[in-house]
Amino acid sequence: MKLDATDLRYLSSDEFRVLTSVEMGSKNHEVVPTSLIVQISGLRNGGVNKLLGELGKRNLVAKVQNSKYDGYRLTYGGYDYLAIRAMSKRDSVYSVGNQIGVGKESDIYIVADAEGNEMVLKLHRLGRISFRAIKEKRDYLGKRKSASWMYMSRLAAQKEWAFMKVLHEHDFPVPRPIDQARHCIIMEFIDAFPLRQIDEVPSPGKLYSTLMDMIVRFARAGLIHGDFNEFNILIRRESGEPVVIDFPQMVSTSHENAEWCVLYFNRDVECIRTFFRRRFRYESAFYPRFRKVIGESADGEGFRLDVVVAASGFKQKDLKALEEVRIPVNEGGLLLTSHLVHGDHKGRWTRRAGRGGGRRGRG
Ligand code: ADP
Ligand code: MG
Repeated sequence: MKLDATDLRYLSSDEFRVLTSVEMGSKNHEVVPTSLIVQISGLRNGGVNKLLGELGKRNLVAKVQNSKYDGYRLTYGGYDYLAIRAMSKRDSVYSVGNQIGVGKESDIYIVADAEGNEMVLKLHRLGRISFRAIKEKRDYLGKRKSASWMYMSRLAAQKEWAFMKVLHEHDFPVPRPIDQARHCIIMEFIDAFPLRQIDEVPSPGKLYSTLMDMIVRFARAGLIHGDFNEFNILIRRESGEPVVIDFPQMVSTSHENAEWCVLYFNRDVECIRTFFRRRFRYESAFYPRFRKVIGESADGEGFRLDVVVAASGFKQKDLKALEEVRIPVNEGGLLLTSHLVHGDHKGRWTRRAGRGGGRRGRG
């Protein structure tokens, strides 16, 4: 779905009021009855109908004819609007630029602040994949089950935000988190190529150990990335240094389901090994083992980031709700590289031509 940035600033205060009323009504209605929207907004009946029509034309709400009553639901466009408006009120965003990525569960845009500094906007889209899993676990969602895509996307953004903040504060190589609202995150733009697009590196062995060390460092700080692969590792254009992104699936090393930890940890390690073997023909007998790393790390990094995150306000119950619905997915969603391709490519890091052609890191 496209973000219409030119539209962002032009919503009358009454339109905004009605849009917010639809959002509030969706907390416990899948389709918000028009009468409820009127009631929440405190505006005149006829006025509200007209405003809803305007919002509908702009795809911020959608009219739904129910068997019992007519009403509206908030669209992703409407939710995007509300989030971006909130962030622009706080001066963290001024303009929205090109889309640079489409993942299975997110859209990524370049945005800028009033000074023209580029940043990355990530919009979580959890409803995009099948929601069958959620429907089976409705008890978790309680009253909010009807707004599950909004609710789950917001949780994913909040979780990613909590982890990114803590990791950044502890000097892990992750983008600097800038702002978060509803299902969106704004973070530092990294001038980099995903490892997926890199054909050659000066020293595969060095990069390999840097990445394995990072997995170990995460684990010693109590965390497993859970999706540590060539799509989520960016290689800085200038320095060749790796930066890790994409945290909504991170798990604590002391997760109650210990089997999961081993599984996630091994999968992270295995992703890197496989990729290096296929792409760079590099293989090493050295790779970290979960039990060993955890065994050694009685005091680890000296802090437990899983504990820090838990204390940061992101609730355990929300972590649980997310875990229940997140079907572990392999990545491989479309990657638009229009932004990343621009400019000269200097330095020794070569980028793959086009999108992922040629040898494939993973099937
Ligand atoms: P998804 O959850 O959809 O996989 P990611 O967070 O992995 O989303 O981002 C998808 C893609 O967007 C990345 O592979 C990368 O190319 C680009 N991207 C994401 N964050 C940044 C960033 N901070 N700087 C530059 N590019 C980014
Ligand atoms: Mg990703």
